[in-house]
Amino acid sequence: MATDSQIAAHKISSVNPATGEVLRELDCTGDVEVCAAVERARAAQTGWAELGLKRRLAVLGEFQQKLHSRKSEIAAAITREAGKPVAEALVTEVLVVLDSARFLLDNAFALLSDEPLPHGNLVAKLKTGCLVRQSHGVIGIISPWNYPFSIPATETLAALVAGNAVVLKPSELTPLVALELASLLHAAGVPQDVFQVVVGEGPAGSALVRSPIDKLVFTGSVNTGKRIAAAAAERLLPVVLELGGKDPILVLDDADVDVASSAAVWGAFVNAGQTCLSVERCYVHRRLYEKFAEACADKAKKLRVGNGMDANTDVGPMIHERQVRVVESHIEDAKARGARILAGGSRLHELGSNFYAPTVLAEVTHDMRIMREETFGPALPIMPFDDDEEAVRLANDSEYGLAASIFTRDSDRGERLSRRIHAGTVMVNDVISCFGISEAPHGGVKASGVGRTHGRFGLEEMVRLKYIDTEQMPGMKKVWWYGYGEAFHRQMGGFLDLQFAQRLSTRVHGALRAAGTVLRKRL
Ligand code: NAD
Repeated sequence: MATDSQIAAHKISSVNPATGEVLRELDCTGDVEVCAAVERARAAQTGWAELGLKRRLAVLGEFQQKLHSRKSEIAAAITREAGKPVAEALVTEVLVVLDSARFLLDNAFALLSDEPLPHGNLVAKLKTGCLVRQSHGVIGIISPWNYPFSIPATETLAALVAGNAVVLKPSELTPLVALELASLLHAAGVPQDVFQVVVGEGPAGSALVRSPIDKLVFTGSVNTGKRIAAAAAERLLPVVLELGGKDPILVLDDADVDVASSAAVWGAFVNAGQTCLSVERCYVHRRLYEKFAEACADKAKKLRVGNGMDANTDVGPMIHERQVRVVESHIEDAKARGARILAGGSRLHELGSNFYAPTVLAEVTHDMRIMREETFGPALPIMPFDDDEEAVRLANDSEYGLAASIFTRDSDRGERLSRRIHAGTVMVNDVISCFGISEAPHGGVKASGVGRTHGRFGLEEMVRLKYIDTEQMPGMKKVWWYGYGEAFHRQMGGFLDLQFAQRLSTRVHGALRAAGTVLRKRL
């Protein structure tokens, strides 16, 4: 007979982080059921792929309409389960997904169509090449709780448009939002088995990694990402890993202090600091440092912390008390090593167990955990620098490389400096918002991950690239086939001279290319 703890382990509770109210209890999907879901997805995927891109895009259009008409209801569901203010749920989740659908509707035909690939090898000039993009089959998606709608939805839409089926394992903290996504997709016409949600904690995710999926898109922490990469390596499962960040913002000596401090405050405290692209480290030119830190502290103190359902709330709760403890430990460590608290610095017990005050710290150093580890909470540590060289060195002194920001009145200077920052994205005079540009690839370097989601490069992750190489003169043997000897050497030597001898190259090459084209047209 099962013990109480075994029974408990097979259920998860969705809890409102602002109030502690249990929203719903759900049964976890077991290993066997995860595999069965993947098998059903595989059986259904062929029909979905054969439907063709035009009809899949029609379903996407329907999804976009349905999401648009239910936008407020979906935003409220996100706030109830993840805590963020409704305004943020609308802008950073619903709007991002609507725009991602818009991007696919506008571009998927061009990006997924067959693509002739001209080539310049004279010896093989009568062969034509074509790139064909085909679905992988079943894509597994494992997602976190911090953007419970926009992260799995943008990945899912790209996967589905490319003809794949999807099995999603959402965070155990936000399963209800994933079920809302499923209901929208199914209502729009995506067959039940083509998009399925499996529910549970880590073990349900690792069951999905072990199941016969064809590719995995994982978003979450570096530690889980490493475990998944190791498991995927065992079976050479291709993976995209969107992992953590410790994003820096550089405020150069010519920056507008008011604009840059507002950006830093929003970037550090939006979603209670629980954004992979959060401003986690702030470096300010020494000339502006005092004024900037003061402005950040003033603005942080004015933020209204509370239940995200209240339209006047700026900062909601953190997702879970254990996440509050991480923030607390980073701030205590910083204080013990000499950091100065300019705003916040403590829990807000009167609001509930998951609330922490927006906190601004000065006199921080790279010896402190708050400047090295992902804090993932409402903390803004600020440190001075003396010149651009030092700013770049400090920004790059991190194991992470997701995104970074540079504030300057001189955009050209910002762009020049951005090339020297080790990150997947650098924003000049903005923070975080690159995630909402559907054309822009999202992803990191170093420990922040492998591969990309969003835009053209995110769509490319959802397809297998096949090169089709066709000889246009089927009756002709190739000159490089057997028959080696003196004559062969002379002939091949002649070809090499034609193509690569410097004096001949450009003109001869052009003439031969033209001749090849004429010949192919005649065949
Ligand atoms: P997490 O790694 O704890 O969990 C992420 C998902 O993995 C969850 O669904 C979880 O159930 C599942 N999981 C846990 N153990 C697993 C295992 N052994 N095998 C398979 N799946 C497993 O991360 P989290 O706390 O949910 O999310 C916060 C982290 O995600 C932060 O580090 C944040 O920076 C990162 N994140 C990154 C991006 C990005 O785009 N780079 C976006 C959002 C969040």
